[in-house]
Order: sequence, then C-alpha cells, then structure tokens
Amino acid sequence: MIRLAHPNFGYEEEQALLDVLRSGILVNGSKTKQFEEEIAKYVGRTDGIAVSSGTAGLHSALQILSIGQEDEVITTPFSFIATANAILFSNARPVFVDIEEDTFMLNPSAIQNAITEKTKAVVAVDLFGQTCDYTRIKKLTNEKGVYLVEDACQSIGASHNQTKAGAFGDISIFSFYATKNITCGEGGMLLTDNKNIAEKAREFRNHGQAQGNKYKYLNPGYNYRMTEMQAALGIQQLKKLEQLTIKRQKNALLLTQLLSTIKEIKLPLTKNEDVHVFHQYTICVASEVRDALCKFLLEKGIETGIFYPFPLHLYNHFERLGYKKGDFPIAERIATEVLSLPIHPLISDEDIKKINRCIRDFYGKS
Ligand SMILES: *Cc1c(COP(=O)(O)O)cnc(C)c1O
Repeated sequence: MIRLAHPNFGYEEEQALLDVLRSGILVNGSKTKQFEEEIAKYVGRTDGIAVSSGTAGLHSALQILSIGQEDEVITTPFSFIATANAILFSNARPVFVDIEEDTFMLNPSAIQNAITEKTKAVVAVDLFGQTCDYTRIKKLTNEKGVYLVEDACQSIGASHNQTKAGAFGDISIFSFYATKNITCGEGGMLLTDNKNIAEKAREFRNHGQAQGNKYKYLNPGYNYRMTEMQAALGIQQLKKLEQLTIKRQKNALLLTQLLSTIKEIKLPLTKNEDVHVFHQYTICVASEVRDALCKFLLEKGIETGIFYPFPLHLYNHFERLGYKKGDFPIAERIATEVLSLPIHPLISDEDIKKINRCIRDFYGKS
C-alpha cells in the first residue's frame, strides 16, 4: 500500500527517546526549552512556546489575545475543523469568508469586506504547505488594528517572499501531529516576537501559573504542556526538516511532470513568490468522478485523502450560528473536487509512476 502519510523516524529519534526515558525528567526539562529555541531560531522569531498540540496552540493564541464574547474572528471555511473550533472555545463568533479557488486559501478581498468594528482577529490558514497571501493580509490587519493569527500547522519550512511560514502572525502556530511534515506524535508550538504574549502563553499552558512562582496563579489556564519525549523527537525531526522537504518537493515535481498532460485534472499551483513544502499534493477533479477515482486508486493500493470533504460552515455547530449552503460557493465547490495524492518523503519514483499510471488507467489514457 502506498500510504498517504508515514512518519519518518530513524535511529536518532529512537536514541533521543531512550535518553529522555533514562534521564527521569519527563516534563518541564531542557529538551522542551531546546526545541522551543531551535524552532524559534529556524523561523526567525524571538520566542517559541511548546504545547501539547496545534489545537492547544490555537486555543491558547485566542485566549492570550483576550478574544471573547462579542468579538468576531475572521477565518476560512476550508480548513481542518480545529481552526474554527478554537474560535468557539474562546466564545467569539467565527466569521467565515470565501477562499481563492487556485490556492484554496483565504481571499484577502473577502477579508477586507468582512472586517467590522467587532473584528478582533483574522485566523489565516497556510493550507497544504504554502502560505497565505500575507503581503496583502498583513497590510489589511495592520491598517485595521486587527490581530493576525497564523495557523501554520501545515506549512513548516514554507516561505513567502523569503519570510518563513510561522513568522507572519502576531502569534503563529505549528502542529507536530503524526501526519505533519515533521512530527512528535502529538505536539504544537506558538511563535511570537512579543515578550508579553510569550509570557502569557507559558502561563496559559501551565494552569495560569506565574513563571517561576509555584502557587501563584494569575489567570485560569490549562494543562497544555509538551512532554520531554515529544520535544526530544522534535529536535531530531527539525534537523531532518530540510532533507524531508526537498524529497517532498522532488516527489511533487515528478508527479506534476507526469500528470500535466491529463486535462481532466487540475494540478496544485505554487505561487511565484513562495516556497511550497507540499504537506499535501492536492489536485482537483470533476465532482462526479472524485469518489470513483478515490476508490479505484485504493483498489490499486494507493491511499488518497480528501482535505476537506465539507466546508466548516455546514457543520452543525457552525450552521447553528446562521450559516447555510450557498454562503461560500467557492469553498463549497472545491470541497467536492479536491483529492490529495501521496507525496511524503518515503514515496519512491516508482510509486509516483504507479500513481500516474493508475490515474491514466482510470481516465482511459495511455
Ligand atoms: C493539524 C492541523 C491543526 C491541528 O493540529 P493538532 O496538532 O492535530 O491539534 C489545526 N489546523 C490545521 C490547518 C491543521 O492541519
């Protein structure tokens, strides 16, 4: 089976994990601190705050920015559900706006039209391994005095105009979930250049406890800590990020070369000013054949994914806020057309050729 995702661990991760187990220090230790510093340095930010997941990071970000009832937070209806759930956790109103059909990401003009007096933040999602159009989005949020939160859970290693993903938000968030480009099983990281935000994030992940003051609780908080085991894996994975990314990009290039003559499928776009890290290689096909293609490929031993089959505003807990079918026509249509093909670093050229051959067979092409 050619799998859609596969973690990429070696001897280094095994050894690092054993070292932690034998050290007797499982949380709040030197590995977490080191991982935070290395990620922050890699992205070019002053502070990294490790948390237990990307979702915990998103929730923390909105809490730290004091977003709450009566506030509106603009976001995309075409993302993983955690992005929008985090807005609900903070009791604010998620204001969805439509996406651009060629990048699948937030349309800056739509953001502009949706900003009101109540808008406190924009949560932008760097989908599939490419960043949003931050040249335009940051200009907007700066002008309007609105926070920018960057959900960079899929885009570590990517860049826009030489600036790395994870460097755009007042707070940016990575995820190290099992299927992400680098992983510690579960894990996340907040990134910021603001010392006050960083301090609040460190408190929030640790029950609201003041730094270095054991029984002083400044605000309510959660237990969103990362373990030393996760951090030890993350340190090793970060060392491999560049190599892993290059392999993804090579796989994507070959797949693009092979598939480019099949006119029935639309290939992923890489914006000129961007480095795309291909967290997913997502094509668009006609809605009527997508499920059949997906099934056909699975029968041939090729796992594919649909990210995402439903736009977020049509899930019950968002529909309840007054959203309905027809509100975001591009996101709704794209959700019926997308199909993600295997692209991860353990996929060989032979695997890619097989994927191409099977798609050609499906369409009856030579
Ligand atoms: C993976 C992901 C998340 C959630 O991260 P977890 O670490 O799984 O909690 C949030 N947003 C996007 C866009 C993601 O891809």
